[in-house]
Amino acid sequence: MSDFLEHLRETLAGIEAEGLMKRERLIEGPQGARVRIGGRSMLNLCANNYLGLADDRRLIAAAKAAMDSHGYGMASVRFICGTQDLHRDLEQRLAAFLGMEDSILFAACFDANGAVFEPLLGEADAVVSDSLNHASIIDGIKLSKARRFRFQNNDMDDLERQLNAAREGGARFILVATDGVFSMDGTFANLAEVTRLATAYGALVMVDDCHATGFVGPQGRGTPARAGVKVDILTGTFGKALGGALGGYIAGPQPVIDLLRQRARPYLFSNALPPAVVGAALAALDIVEGADALRTQLSDNAEYWRAGLEAFGFRLLPGSHPIVPVMIGEAPLAQAFARALDARGVMVSAFFFPVVPRGLARIRTQMNAALTRGDLDFGLAAFAEAGREVGVLS
Ligand SMILES: *Cc1c(COP(=O)(O)O)cnc(C)c1O
Repeated sequence: MSDFLEHLRETLAGIEAEGLMKRERLIEGPQGARVRIGGRSMLNLCANNYLGLADDRRLIAAAKAAMDSHGYGMASVRFICGTQDLHRDLEQRLAAFLGMEDSILFAACFDANGAVFEPLLGEADAVVSDSLNHASIIDGIKLSKARRFRFQNNDMDDLERQLNAAREGGARFILVATDGVFSMDGTFANLAEVTRLATAYGALVMVDDCHATGFVGPQGRGTPARAGVKVDILTGTFGKALGGALGGYIAGPQPVIDLLRQRARPYLFSNALPPAVVGAALAALDIVEGADALRTQLSDNAEYWRAGLEAFGFRLLPGSHPIVPVMIGEAPLAQAFARALDARGVMVSAFFFPVVPRGLARIRTQMNAALTRGDLDFGLAAFAEAGREVGVLS
């Protein structure tokens, strides 16, 4: 045992020495455009709170009402005695919102992505996966027996090569899996071309729309709606734009959802979502459908923020998504920059290996609809000062 713990201490010391240690800040109150940390009010530029709903009074009221009517916890998985009318209401409401036949809830989208491949695909089948897909998709694919093919991020020639390889390898069914938005870069998957190639090769398409549902595309219906295409399976989360609490889902054709309800292990062996979360998620969908003003505010904020950073000479990844990565390079510099921003009352998160490749460390800033023009100007001034202080700007 002591050898083992010594081994772990050495690993931790190595992480620290490389400047890769992640430290968590203690937020003293609700999530929002500004948060309290150590008694200070901080501008928050790192939440996935795209529509600003994480502290919305209507969602809090809906959560309380659902606890009053349906209790606190389910103390059961869904199929034993854990399914309430609220769960089915949410699954059907969500499917209608996404234009799918049905949906199935999970404790998190991490679980949904861990659940979706193994029951649907066997040894005779193939998954073709984008190289920048979320960790949960990568893990989910590992859990299935399907053959794996990987294409370079958003490289449609490579996707076609991999589809060809899967076909020539004799695959029975082929599923192309991609994030709708690549969350470290803030770039959109080329779904028009992905779906065109999938049709040409008789493949199915699965999209993880965690960083899109609620605010991308008409009524916030996500990246397929934005691209004007239909995909076969969608996965997503309630932990980002749709209220920010937790919970995940898979939406798709009826037989897909029906089989997942029989076979998906994170569904069969894990607790039902609590009524408060389900009730608030229903309220979030009502809000989101009519939230054009919030979506406009969000895209205006993203445009203003990008333009402001570019004017100072920061290196951004191009795009239009509210994820705006400021590219830094090495992890210790990204961490120093984050600390200099912290000292100026701006909370950001530095992303570095293993979350992004070595040498491509970045500050991933994220816009949301609750940020005011005053907040953004405050943030831009802090970025310029901190950037000069640590040498990110010359
Ligand atoms: C956040 C995220 C997940 C995980 O969602 P949770 O509901 O928090 O588990 C999965 N996929 C992508 C692309 C994400 O951004």
